[in-house]
Amino acid sequence: MSIDTHQSGETHPARPRARALIAGNWKMNKLPSEAAAWLRELQAALPAGAASGGSAKAELLVLVPFTHLPGMAKLAFGTGIGVGAQDVSSHASGAYTGEVAGPMLRDAGATYVIVGHSERRAYHHEDDTLVNAKVKAATAAGLVPILCVGESRAERDAGAASTVVLAQLAGALEGLDLANPAALVVAYEPVWAIGTGLTATADDAQEMSAVIRDALRERYGAVGDEVRVLYGGSMKPSNAAELMSKPDIDGGLIGGASLAVSDLLAIAEAAA
Ligand code: PEP
Repeated sequence: MSIDTHQSGETHPARPRARALIAGNWKMNKLPSEAAAWLRELQAALPAGAASGGSAKAELLVLVPFTHLPGMAKLAFGTGIGVGAQDVSSHASGAYTGEVAGPMLRDAGATYVIVGHSERRAYHHEDDTLVNAKVKAATAAGLVPILCVGESRAERDAGAASTVVLAQLAGALEGLDLANPAALVVAYEPVWAIGTGLTATADDAQEMSAVIRDALRERYGAVGDEVRVLYGGSMKPSNAAELMSKPDIDGGLIGGASLAVSDLLAIAEAAA
């Protein structure tokens, strides 16, 4: 039986790995009409008969602004390309002006939703308590949360990267039961690498992903082995293969490079 070794020095039997997930986070970019053109271009570029998700190596997913969801979900129906959202309310319904609830996202065709992105933590002051409520709200609505965790440059320089990420993970997953590994995705996104062109080295990204994996195992046992852990932070065609060759990196959460179909496809092709 093959063995993988983690930073902690512990060894674990090689874990079963799900198909890689290549998730594009468009942030606040593209008009709905441009989104439709992007999806048509993606479909046209996929190998014929690849209705099972586009790339045999990777599951493809695009996380779009709320306004784009129904149209994109309709266009993507039957293609195997998933459509998701970038945020969810912690409430299921009610007097929360401007918020969008999980059941609304689900009804509009979303299957995944980003929770706790560093831009929301920074610009909307989302803390671990709110992120935890959003993870639970997403799960209750039948959405798969893509939980983002990651340290700042100052935290990394102070040697606190693991401590910060483990605290974010523990806060976000507090009280969350998980029987199905496909019901959760964790994205390791070092804040200093998002949208900056700076990328964590593949070894650093693996080290942090292994820290996350160990915490998932501790919390969820064997189920934690199969939860997909993505890397995010200036992933692009030129660095994707090396990052995704690492044993605890199961795909990517891709911002800027997901806006161009050719880049997203090249990254999907690089999935190990
Ligand atoms: C992101 O927004 O999650 C992200 C990783 O962005 P970028 O790829 O542009 O760094």
